[in-house]
Amino acid sequence: MNANTSKLLQLTLSGLGNWLILIAIALLLGAAGLGWIVKSIVIFLGLLLIAPFIALFGLRWWLSRNLIQDSCPVCSYEFAGLAQSQMQCPNCGEPLQIQDGKFARLTPPGTIDVDAIDVSVRQISDESSR
Ligand SMILES: [Zn+2]
Repeated sequence: MNANTSKLLQLTLSGLGNWLILIAIALLLGAAGLGWIVKSIVIFLGLLLIAPFIALFGLRWWLSRNLIQDSCPVCSYEFAGLAQSQMQCPNCGEPLQIQDGKFARLTPPGTIDVDAIDVSVRQISDESSR
């Protein structure tokens, strides 16, 4: 147990020692008129810390401009899609594109109606053949 405690103490001391060395180097560089190196390192580290936040903010901004939430014009299922892209409705599989911030069907509105007529004609002919 004593060995463990002394090991921990040593680790803590060596950690402190590293920081002390860094601070000493910074002070020495500053004293030697090379404070700009320390400043540039601090600025670099600061940028490194800030960069992910800027990226996240930029992504959110981009998404708010390009992500459009609307309901499917066919089945009125609500979902989000990217502007300037074509997609499929996750509910009914209808190919969609975004027009004026709203989902619009890629296929002309008449297509489905024509299909429906074809189906009904087939059903009638099936029934007459029975
Ligand atoms: Zn749909």
